[in-house]
Amino acid sequence: MSIEFFCEYCGKSTPALKPSSWRCICGGPWSLPPGPPFDPDAITSAASGVWRFHRQIRLPSGHYPTLGEGCGRWLRANNEPSIALAHLEPTLSFKDRGVTTLLAWASLAAQPPLIEDSSGNAGGSFAAYAAAAGIPCRIYVPASAPPGKIAALHAFGAEVVKIDGPRFNTTEAAIADNDGTYCSHAWNPMFLEGTKTMAFQWWQEHKGQFPKRIYVPAGQGSIVLGLFYGFREINAAIPDFTVPAIMPVQHRTAASLWEPINIDGPAVEPRPDDVPSIADGIAIDQPVRKEALITAVTQTGGRVIAVGNEEIRNAQRKLTTMGVWAEPTGAVAMAGHMQVGDDDDALVVVSGHGLKTGKV
Ligand SMILES: [Zn+2]
Repeated sequence: MSIEFFCEYCGKSTPALKPSSWRCICGGPWSLPPGPPFDPDAITSAASGVWRFHRQIRLPSGHYPTLGEGCGRWLRANNEPSIALAHLEPTLSFKDRGVTTLLAWASLAAQPPLIEDSSGNAGGSFAAYAAAAGIPCRIYVPASAPPGKIAALHAFGAEVVKIDGPRFNTTEAAIADNDGTYCSHAWNPMFLEGTKTMAFQWWQEHKGQFPKRIYVPAGQGSIVLGLFYGFREINAAIPDFTVPAIMPVQHRTAASLWEPINIDGPAVEPRPDDVPSIADGIAIDQPVRKEALITAVTQTGGRVIAVGNEEIRNAQRKLTTMGVWAEPTGAVAMAGHMQVGDDDDALVVVSGHGLKTGKV
């Protein structure tokens, strides 16, 4: 199996299992070309976790670290949108889907220790899967990350490096670390190979029937891209499958997609109560794959919604009345849905568990 990464900016390619660097020499992120058309008959119960969709994942056959990820189901209630419980994964965040494929890649292609930077959830997931794979890892986190998320890193035996200042400082510090392999979930496209299995799992569980719109939290936008790439592979096999509109919800202090997508909308101005953002998981000024995100949202007919701290707290409280405990970032999509209002033909994605950040 010959797999190549290509650069989203200049088109240059590199062997996926022996890339020239963590990104292209021109500064662009590596990507994978569209995967094979989705084949429902190839879903195998012989594998666990997202590996039951291995035919769609561009990695050779092998025994990879899995914790049975790919579990979150939909909650349906009368007169409400459906809720995708995407946080009900082994480390209580949707990130596990992408981290299992990222760690599988690392087990074949990376020199330990593995280096990652994260505001918390991706790092916790990375540390858990690295522990399961028996590979040492070093995680860079903002010093301001919630204590529960940092505790998870220590619990899994990761080496933890706390960095002061804005989120971007954490990424810069991880990139500057040359003692190991930088395996960023934002930069390495293998993360999206696992994330896209959300689309396949939901297609399988709901017999291809999706609500018209899917509201998702968006920082680096891995749920947006994962769903888009998964839907693209489904559509290649099933031309009459109607791809739902993907509706990214961002915080008013980090609404990177607002201006390029909602071209006629008013500018987004943070309100005094929005600073600092309580949605630490999407505090990303400029996502790595911004152009790809714009394509994904516009091609599916979606638009961007920007919310603030008060709306997120209200969304957390609303979710708890439905029996769902989300961390602030995990409730962002619900806040976006509540702002739009009167949209029952919708799926709202909850991405991270409230246990990680504590009280609502
Ligand atoms: Zn390039």
